[in-house]
Amino acid sequence: MRKKIVAGNWKMNHDLAETETFFNELKKQMFPEDVEVMIAPAFTNLNHAFTSTREHPIEIVAQNMHQSDKGAFTGEISAAMLKSVGVKTVILGHSERRAEFGETDDLLSEKVNTAIENEMTIIFCVGESLEERKAGTHEQVVSKQLEEGLFHLSDVGFKNIVVAYEPVWAIGTGETASPEQAQEMHASIRSSIAKHYSDGIAKETAILYGGSVKPDNAAEIFGQEDVDGGLIGGASLKVDSFMKIVNAFQK
Ligand code: PEP
Repeated sequence: MRKKIVAGNWKMNHDLAETETFFNELKKQMFPEDVEVMIAPAFTNLNHAFTSTREHPIEIVAQNMHQSDKGAFTGEISAAMLKSVGVKTVILGHSERRAEFGETDDLLSEKVNTAIENEMTIIFCVGESLEERKAGTHEQVVSKQLEEGLFHLSDVGFKNIVVAYEPVWAIGTGETASPEQAQEMHASIRSSIAKHYSDGIAKETAILYGGSVKPDNAAEIFGQEDVDGGLIGGASLKVDSFMKIVNAFQK
């Protein structure tokens, strides 16, 4: 059975006090047993978040990391640093990193290798722009991102991958892909994985949807056959909306 995952990506939001308040509230919640709950706070709050949730079924995730082990990279964070504060999962290839910080498929494949060498799980983001969607090239765009960023991995390496399909036009815009659009792309991603690896690996790979998921649309999106959960931005900043999304899977 594939994992169901709801992961909150806080981006550059929530300072230490806000992070403390959020986790104090989140720790009081009951989670469905079959859903993995993850939160990616700012780097500065990873240590606090990890320590405060140690006894709870909440995984603390990093939003990014550098591809090198150590060295003269002012402002950057290594895999070893993340592991030293208990982080075992990292988001790579978020469209904001690709667009605002020039992260290319080549760079991302290096980051992927470093994360795998460090035995980390990767939530690898892919997704097309509005222009690419309108031009009808969205499946090719996503397929190229998968091929260049991930498909060099061995079968064993690929088992540490969670894919997050995030159409760029739906991130932070309030516009969500329709459940049909999400399902179509998730099925296409799963079929690419089957082609490059095997049916077995494709069936086991969790594929999350991200892009303006909210309490009122999560159930319909999560109800699609190939959607295994969500990567949630804005709606993960408040416990109430985040928990409604965590509880949105139909049995
Ligand atoms: C994201 O940043 O990964 C995201 C999906 O954001 P939002 O839910 O706010 O669209």
